[in-house]
Amino acid sequence: MNPKKSLGQNFLIDKNIIKKIVSLVKIKNKNIIEIGPGKGALTDEILKQFPKSLFLIEKDEKLSKELVFKYSQHKQVKVISGDVLKLDLERIILKNSIIFGNLPYNISSQILVKLIKFKTWTPNFSDLVLMFQKELANKITGKFNTKHYGRLSILTSYRLNIIQKFLISNNCFFPKPKVISQVIHFQPKKEAELSLRDTSNLEKITQFFFSNKRKMVNKKIKNILSESEIKKIRELKLNLRPSNLKPEVYFKITQIFEKK
Ligand code: SAM
Repeated sequence: MNPKKSLGQNFLIDKNIIKKIVSLVKIKNKNIIEIGPGKGALTDEILKQFPKSLFLIEKDEKLSKELVFKYSQHKQVKVISGDVLKLDLERIILKNSIIFGNLPYNISSQILVKLIKFKTWTPNFSDLVLMFQKELANKITGKFNTKHYGRLSILTSYRLNIIQKFLISNNCFFPKPKVISQVIHFQPKKEAELSLRDTSNLEKITQFFFSNKRKMVNKKIKNILSESEIKKIRELKLNLRPSNLKPEVYFKITQIFEKK
């Protein structure tokens, strides 16, 4: 079967890297979800570590049929044939789950945002071990005052802690992608650390500011907050550009916006 580019099918073939990814978390007796298992490169290694349950979410019907056949002897494996973006993940995921995914590149940021925007927090997952294109990974992990800082890193840092990350050469895949990848291990922040009613509002606010990065903050903020509301944000300097505002300032703007 030819790998489908449209589904981001680059399969892991390097055994050491597969072991390294799976060993980031303790799997024994845990509930595991794998997004985009493909032919089961990570799945085989996960199974060796004795998970309690293992749900595989695969969009490619042919591959999901092969997976059902391949793991038919493993009672703890359940194959869900479908599009991860269309599934109600929050309902599917069991308590204390670990989510793995060598994600299809074209939708990897959408998948991450979907996980970040879960309605219930602290969520049912305790760990995320996800792989991205390096360029996207930079945007996810971009710290304040660096060139990769932006809406994705603000949104991510609101709900997730980054525990570890490492690069993966394109030689570890077949077919070989043009770009380098990065694995990131995240854990959810505790509910008490969070201040917003709805994470979608933070997404909207950051989208609004970063849609025009060169524009000074004072030009934009007047469209969403009143003079008196703006004065409540002491750390806010109006002559700055969106990338010069710390994540906490965006959290505060969103908080005030939510109270309107
Ligand atoms: N995990 C395997 C590995 O490491 O060898 C395959 C990884 S491959 C980069 C991405 C996988 O995600 C493919 O098997 C592809 O068919 C699947 N996929 C693509 N879009 C998907 C979607 N919307 N929902 C679920 N799976 C999807």
